[in-house]
Amino acid sequence: MTLNLAAELYRLPGVGSVRARQLRERGLVTVGDLLWYLPYRYEDRSSPTPIGALATPDVTVTLVGEVTDLRERRARTRALHLVEALVQDGSGAIPVVWFNQPYVARSLRRGVRLWLHGTVRLARSGWGLQLVSPEWEVEEDREPLHLGRVVPVYRRLGPASGRWLRSLMAAALARVEVAEGVLDRLLGGEYPTLAQALQQVHFPQLPTEEAAAGRFLDEMYGRTSLFHRRLALEEFAGLALVLEKARAARSALAAPRCQVSEREREWARAMLPFPLTGAQKRAVGEIVADLQKPTPMARLLQGDVGSGKTVVAALASLVVLSSGYQVAFLAPTEVLAQQHWTTLSKLFARIPFPVYLLTGSLAPGEKEAVRKALQQGSPALVVGTHALLEETVTVPRLGLAIVDEQHRFGTSQRQRLVEKGSSPHLLVMTATPIPRSLALSLYGDLEVSVLDELPPGRRPVRTVIREREALPKLLQFVREEARSGGRVYWVFPVIEGSETPALKSLQAHERTLRRQLEGIACGTVHGRLRPEERDAVMRAFAQGEIAVLFATTVIEVGLDVPEATLMVIENPERFGLAQLHQLRGRVGRGQRRSFCVLLLGEQVSREARQRLEFFASTADGFAVAEEDFRLRGPGEFTGMRQWGRPEFRAASLLLHQSELDLARTLVRQALEAGELEQLEAGLSLPPSLGEDIPPG
Ligand code: ADP
Ligand code: MG
Repeated sequence: MTLNLAAELYRLPGVGSVRARQLRERGLVTVGDLLWYLPYRYEDRSSPTPIGALATPDVTVTLVGEVTDLRERRARTRALHLVEALVQDGSGAIPVVWFNQPYVARSLRRGVRLWLHGTVRLARSGWGLQLVSPEWEVEEDREPLHLGRVVPVYRRLGPASGRWLRSLMAAALARVEVAEGVLDRLLGGEYPTLAQALQQVHFPQLPTEEAAAGRFLDEMYGRTSLFHRRLALEEFAGLALVLEKARAARSALAAPRCQVSEREREWARAMLPFPLTGAQKRAVGEIVADLQKPTPMARLLQGDVGSGKTVVAALASLVVLSSGYQVAFLAPTEVLAQQHWTTLSKLFARIPFPVYLLTGSLAPGEKEAVRKALQQGSPALVVGTHALLEETVTVPRLGLAIVDEQHRFGTSQRQRLVEKGSSPHLLVMTATPIPRSLALSLYGDLEVSVLDELPPGRRPVRTVIREREALPKLLQFVREEARSGGRVYWVFPVIEGSETPALKSLQAHERTLRRQLEGIACGTVHGRLRPEERDAVMRAFAQGEIAVLFATTVIEVGLDVPEATLMVIENPERFGLAQLHQLRGRVGRGQRRSFCVLLLGEQVSREARQRLEFFASTADGFAVAEEDFRLRGPGEFTGMRQWGRPEFRAASLLLHQSELDLARTLVRQALEAGELEQLEAGLSLPPSLGEDIPPG
């Protein structure tokens, strides 16, 4: 019986209707789905240790020998069933015991050759060693599965144990015929075939030569083997395909057509309170060129905190407004929406287009007025929060949708905004610096503009690492800053400390700190406050009614308070570097010299310290992002999940960058040759990758 990858799982031996349902609930329907469920690690159980060489307890070993004695008994005192065996090889013998597994006795008999894998313990008598409840497998004619080889280890899937899955994998691989994949043909022998890769990733065949075997195992363990790379290619091709299709779909749409004349240039000059940086000029140039094209723009504006993305967005808006269209600007929080509205209102003060604010906290009458105005369809700029996405809000002549701090929004929200118009231009902005390789895969369907330059006159934030003992001095510094008009953020990793006592919690510490800072206005924000309360406190801080703000990371995104000069971070060792960088970006936004103090917790590891020292030594967000990426992989990046990108099974953006590039090239070539559909039909993908991601 041969099956193909599309065959359903119940066709495999051992999969009845119950198992089939359990697997289906976890996304595995076909043999292909099963084979994409990859081992998360391997164990080398290929070479048995001679029994006579065992000397010390508490080591995990693989043994093979003959069963020379076998008995069953019940312990009288406890309801305990024991199977006891003696296993002997040429070098010695070892007693083995299994507790409450009577079927072991039924499956074994004297004289069989038995493979064992487990941890050697000191026998209870205190004399000699024994093996307690080891994994076992009787050596037969067929190839060994669980022992006597490099074995794959699977995470259990609900009721299906890892060992059961291993047997099922073997059964599937013995029966499946993996047809030549499209990529097999395109790759032309440089990589193993899909069939080989699937076989070897589950049941690797160890090379016989010792040095080669060591290297092979390292690569298998590290997921960098050619087999893993081949599977990564399949996944990356799947992703590249989705992105290219999104791009292609977009290029078939007709966009709102914009023009730029002398009038707009005049206005632009009038609205800018400062000359643009070189990077801003470049970004504006790229955006304005896109806006004049017949197909909708989809562009990511990536710029470190404080690089001045808002004015770039304002200039883009100006072009769209003066071409007779409306602009919607989506911000993740009330405070940010308000901040943008204030900034944009000032910029547009002498330009004849209205700037509206639409947030949840507006009075119903005010909201209604904005909705009515937008409904007219005359050129206007509206800044808002999620309230903007409500169905009752119509923006009939939407020409440009802007999404700020886009990682706070999901794809569907971005989509809802875009759908308020008919194929408007899209500009998404992010301050989370993203390594190039990650940007390609996350935002491969977008063009990218980068602001890699800060406005002139900024002095980098001075970052220092301090132990707890430095607190009195730090408090003195806080008082001085507050008295001279500066403002201070003091950030904690958690609100309450009950669950993780090692972390400094906001609630446990702010009271003491407030007492020590007597006479200075302090405020508190965290995620459990109602949004209105939180906004009220943040506003008071922005306006200077509060000088010291105790907070959790809710303050991370986008807040622009130029007077803030000091950022204190408790337990910085618990934060990712990218997140620390976001936090640090809240200060150093004005003329005054700013500081970031990393206040270490107890028992910080050497690696953590080195990481923080690296962070303190650089102000470059991209360098920080690369390092964070290198240390923690892409999974930790803010927004990867919200963005709706599936998680890979074999592929790693960190380990397989050349495969990512190769996959993109192959997909582009297929597109140019008009063979995208064949490519798509011929890919084998894990279940989650099959889902389509809507075009931006
Ligand atoms: P971000 O990119 O983090 O969103 P903002 O748009 O909030 O940055 O800008 C940060 C600050 O820099 C604002 O106060 C803004 O007015 C100022 N700014 C932006 N561009 C320039 C420039 N070219 N010259 C001087 N200041 C600028
Ligand atoms: Mg911003």
